[in-house]
Amino acid sequence: MNKTADHRPVLVIHGGAGTIKRDRMTPEREAEYRAVLEQSLKTGYAILDDGGTALDAVQAAVRVMEDSPLFNAGRGAVFTHEGVNECDACIMDGTTRNAGAVAAVRRIRNPIDLARLVLEKSVHVLLAGDGAEQFAVEHGMTLEHDPAYFFTEHRWQQLQQALAREAAERGEELVQLDHAGDDHLGTVGAVALDRAGNLAAATSTGGMTNKRFGRIGDTPIIGAGTYADNAACAVSSTGHGEYIMRAVLAFRTAALMAWRGMSLAEAAERAVADLTGLGGTGGLVAVDHRGNIAMPFNCEGMYRGCIDRNGALRTAVFRDHGD
Ligand code: ASP
Repeated sequence: MNKTADHRPVLVIHGGAGTIKRDRMTPEREAEYRAVLEQSLKTGYAILDDGGTALDAVQAAVRVMEDSPLFNAGRGAVFTHEGVNECDACIMDGTTRNAGAVAAVRRIRNPIDLARLVLEKSVHVLLAGDGAEQFAVEHGMTLEHDPAYFFTEHRWQQLQQALAREAAERGEELVQLDHAGDDHLGTVGAVALDRAGNLAAATSTGGMTNKRFGRIGDTPIIGAGTYADNAACAVSSTGHGEYIMRAVLAFRTAALMAWRGMSLAEAAERAVADLTGLGGTGGLVAVDHRGNIAMPFNCEGMYRGCIDRNGALRTAVFRDHGD
């Protein structure tokens, strides 16, 4: 592959969607988020620009955000009810529709790398918990045994707040998972179109603060949190996983394009509208085989960014930054 191939590469990323409170977002803080988004975009795009695959690009872009403590993925993942970090991740190749995913892994620094390993080396698609970590070790990955690597003070405080709220509400039978504030935010994802015209999608998350009972979200579920098909588009979702799974958000976007002949923008808007109809908050980033981009969300903000067909880079957080 070389730079004379047909397609101009495109990369679109997100760093989570939800209620991002403006009064808690200082210009300095926003600049920090945008700097990581930019680094992620540049890292992934360099691979695409060089003729690399969409699959490699989305993995590299996600890895940058996993390594940042700002985002709820890898380092900086939110805490479960028991006070540990459990991560989910998924990667999908739009050319072959091969996919790899992991759920509830506790000792993997870069869950997206393990998802890629599952895609490449496993006969299975989705591995969970200890088994997934055993697979990682058998394939030469090093486990991070020190929980301090994943620990961030602000995520810990978010768990303490969630536990305090829960204690105040005790007596109700239903344990409410916390997705009301911005304290879960930061799930990361990337979608790309490479020079060969191939699409890929990747998503990685710590899930939701105070999750329990082995809760797994939409992120590692093919078609919900992550989906890629060269015939339509590549999608990475973020938001309240319990609703995204039922909306089958990522696949819904692709299906509306492929089966209803909608444009990417229309299909993505329609899929998010379905999520809204179910009562779920969230959004998605998507790119189609022509390099069109969509980044719709139904809440206050979504950390997001792209490098489009013309090589122009932009990042945004709130709605009024425009897409
Ligand atoms: N979708 C993720 C989950 O439910 C969380 C998020 O994107 O905020 O696990």
